[in-house]
Amino acid sequence: MDHFPVFMAVAGRRIVLSGGGDAAMAKLRLIMKTTAHVSVFAEDASPEIQGWAAEGKLTLVNRAVEPGDAMCAVLFYAANEDDAEDARVAAIAHADGAKVNIVDNLADSQFITPAIVDRDPVVVAIGTEGAAPVVARKVKADIEAQLPVSLGVLARIGKTFRSAVEVLPMGAKRRTFWSDFYFNAGPKAVESVGQSAVIPTLEALLDKHIMATEKAGHVDLVGAGPGDPELLTLKARNALDKADVVIHDRLVTPEILELARREAVIIDAGKTGFGPAMAQGDIDALIVEHALKGHHVVRLKAGDPTVFGRLDEEIDACDAAGISWRVVPGITAASAAVANIGQSLTKRNRNSSVRFITGHDTKGYADHDWRALAQNGEVAAIYMGKKSARFIQGRLLMHGADPATPVTIIENVSRTDQQIIATTLSDLEPTLTRANLRGPAITFYGLAPRAAMDAADTLPLEEFA
Ligand code: SAH
Repeated sequence: MDHFPVFMAVAGRRIVLSGGGDAAMAKLRLIMKTTAHVSVFAEDASPEIQGWAAEGKLTLVNRAVEPGDAMCAVLFYAANEDDAEDARVAAIAHADGAKVNIVDNLADSQFITPAIVDRDPVVVAIGTEGAAPVVARKVKADIEAQLPVSLGVLARIGKTFRSAVEVLPMGAKRRTFWSDFYFNAGPKAVESVGQSAVIPTLEALLDKHIMATEKAGHVDLVGAGPGDPELLTLKARNALDKADVVIHDRLVTPEILELARREAVIIDAGKTGFGPAMAQGDIDALIVEHALKGHHVVRLKAGDPTVFGRLDEEIDACDAAGISWRVVPGITAASAAVANIGQSLTKRNRNSSVRFITGHDTKGYADHDWRALAQNGEVAAIYMGKKSARFIQGRLLMHGADPATPVTIIENVSRTDQQIIATTLSDLEPTLTRANLRGPAITFYGLAPRAAMDAADTLPLEEFA
């Protein structure tokens, strides 16, 4: 690039042109689009130029350029169509401190004038460094055809409307609004009614886009915690407060569903482990279906949605449907349960890591690193572990775990009917089967309730013996 395109500030400043013929007129037609003061020096100016002078569009001086005439000019055009005269006036203008262009003389010019598509304040400048005027004309024609004639007016009025549009979320939504205005609603309004229609059009269009934005559904994937409403996060409460539709798991308690907005539609997508279940694909479809109707969907999951929550499938479904989503974390059963037995999930000099494992997965009983778990001091929180207790017990004993390792089962964590059963690995079964628990239960391997805890909180082992 031998010429660097810039937009020169010329408002209220001088542009001087020497010449009075066709070349001068061609340049003047461009220059007169600006708000600069234009002076023309010509002994014999064409009638058009004289007419522009009479209309006050430029100042005409009926003589050749003399030293000092280009003083304080930002730009100077030599358009005499006479090489010797152009060279003479260019030298003068140069000495006066102006940037000089000699028409049709690229080599001696300090700047060149591009082809222009004018939708002021939107201005497109096209340059080919003199190499291909045909290309410049074609590009100009294409761009002229692309940009609505009213674009300039629209841009000027649109500029005053920018802050109002900030009610739309940043990014795609705002861009869609502006593109609708500049290329659709705006030009139509100017064409059919005129400039006076632009502001009312902007206002109506903004309302339309605000409504469309509100209509675009959204999915909050919310953790409901273990059951006690006080263990909900504020974010979860606020989401429930705004929900149009709540799609919840079987384990979500009625007390928590109570907190949903009164008008919200509540849908039970409960998947009872072994009873009639709603397939995950059906749940994904349900979430998407309601969000696509423009609803604020709260997908309410027990505990924390990121723990054995099939969260990813639901996020993928939202993504595939182009629906915005957010995860609101919750207190997972293990966190609430360990609090209620007065223990820590990790403890210095005992266990520096803790495993969250599931008793069974889609393929049946879930396998784990039993050998590692069998080591002294290991702690695991076993989710969905009721049916698989005997399997887990057998595996751990087989891998050398101490039969006296404490095991604690907590049913209905944080609910009024919470039960704590303290046992050992060797007694895990048949204790658990005998307890005949009906509610959800989490099993801690390697943790016993803190000894100092109120004995009344813990059911004595004998009860199930
Ligand atoms: N996302 C949930 C876990 C879902 S898997 C969470 O973070 O807690 C379902 C298992 O979680 C149940 O089988 C049970 O093991 C455990 N669980 C969930 N809520 C429970 C509760 N209130 N009390 C005891 N266990 C619970």
